[in-house]
Amino acid sequence: MDNHELPSEELRRVAVLGGGISGMATAFGLARAGIAVTLIESEASLGGLGLSYESPVGRIDRFYHCILPTDRHLLGLLEQLDLMDQVDWKRSGMGFFHRKRRYSLNTPWDLLRFGALPFADRLRMGWGTLVGLRQSRPEALDDITAECWLRKVFGDRCFEVVWRALLQAKFGDAYQEIPALWIWSRLTREKDGGPEVKAMLPGGLKTLINRLEGELVRLGVEIEKKAHVSAVEAVEPGVQLTESGGRVRRFDAAVLAMATRPALKLLGDSEAGRTLSRFELPYQGVVNAVYATREPLDRFYWTAVVDSGVGFQGIVETTQLADPKDFGGHHLVYVMNYVPAEHPLFAQEDSEISERYLTELKSLYPGFGESGVGWSGVFRAPYVEPVYSVGYFGRRPPEVLATDSIYLCNTSQIYPDITSWNSCVGRAEQLVKRIRSEVRAACFPGELMQPAQQRLV
Ligand SMILES: Cc1cc2nc3c(=O)[nH]c(=O)nc-3n(C[C@H](O)[C@H](O)[C@H](O)COP(=O)(O)OP(=O)(O)OC[C@H]3O[C@@H](n4cnc5c(N)ncnc54)[C@H](O)[C@@H]3O)c2cc1C
Repeated sequence: MDNHELPSEELRRVAVLGGGISGMATAFGLARAGIAVTLIESEASLGGLGLSYESPVGRIDRFYHCILPTDRHLLGLLEQLDLMDQVDWKRSGMGFFHRKRRYSLNTPWDLLRFGALPFADRLRMGWGTLVGLRQSRPEALDDITAECWLRKVFGDRCFEVVWRALLQAKFGDAYQEIPALWIWSRLTREKDGGPEVKAMLPGGLKTLINRLEGELVRLGVEIEKKAHVSAVEAVEPGVQLTESGGRVRRFDAAVLAMATRPALKLLGDSEAGRTLSRFELPYQGVVNAVYATREPLDRFYWTAVVDSGVGFQGIVETTQLADPKDFGGHHLVYVMNYVPAEHPLFAQEDSEISERYLTELKSLYPGFGESGVGWSGVFRAPYVEPVYSVGYFGRRPPEVLATDSIYLCNTSQIYPDITSWNSCVGRAEQLVKRIRSEVRAACFPGELMQPAQQRLV
């Protein structure tokens, strides 16, 4: 820590808009560097997609989240927050429904018995996983579609049965645009050479959010919730925030830590807005239903559902990692559906969605929920997964939208990493480094001169 390098009377105040993990991690890094921060969130609580909900069976995460051993930025943050002793790694399996038949897909032996594919294709699938994923120049995969690459590595039949459905599940019809680099990152993210394990914190993401919020307060970050900023504009010097009530405030800089669409709304037709609009990309949203039941559903954390006549694409049973005791002895089963924000599911009644998905779950697992569903809920989020297209690496939005005053920190910049708390923390760390050096340069212009002066001497 080198707070002492920035004299307090010279401190800049930075407004961070968006209190999801990107905004919280940015605020944390800036505050630790001695920069004064105001964190502004439009919801009543911090957390963004990591928000939880007080249900009758206990507090649950609205969306399932797990931590992987390869999540080095997130694990670093947990370390700084003294939470590592709560990370309890568990073996977690993957299931695969194809035409209503359930398979386990965790071992080479499972693959040999994977009846959704003819035997020769099962071998091809194994070869692809062992050999095809090894890439000496993964960056070249940005220039071809995932479909083209997957067909080459795994063959047409594996693509038709497995990969097309998995890509479609996440991106809908836009799957044809997705670069091979994205799927390669996705497939290699979970591999660190050891057995496949995952973790959740006891109490879910709320445990991390609460601890981080406490640290932010301790570091002097001003946190504003239910805040309604309607415009952000670069002015000389700094940045001006206009609230929907008309109040105007000045800061030295602002970080927009939210999806591109809401960031564009704030920037309007300003120069920064026009800069960002050149990088706008579509997002998939998500609609997921959660069921709390007395019995477990299966033995897997995640089960893909393909070609099985149901309206969702996957099932996640978080109590494979979390302790059912935290939910009054209930097991938590999430079913998810990735769709764009304009999809009718966003307007449909919760009860209709949860009843329909429950019936469909029962068609896959006859007898599921027989001893009663203790509680069910439906949660939606409009901006979850940026929909990338071939060549996206060179089209990622910049960190700086207006020189020295407006910065962007969101998931559209993390490609080829996949959207996760880990990659958001990593992105925030990069941005903090940049802002620190810019603030230091402004406070100590002489510092930049030193090397040249030394040379003169
Ligand atoms: C179903 C699902 C499963 C997932 N599973 C995992 C997983 O297993 N592991 C993992 O690591 N990640 C997972 N993720 C991804 C992860 O949740 C996201 O990548 C991450 O939360 C993005 O964080 P963010 O801060 O960039 O954005 P967000 O969480 O969207 O935060 C943006 C914040 O900005 C606020 N905001 C918006 N507009 C304004 C405004 N005008 N003024 C002030 N505030 C504003 C919003 O209210 C929000 O709080 C999952 C996501 C979903 C939906």
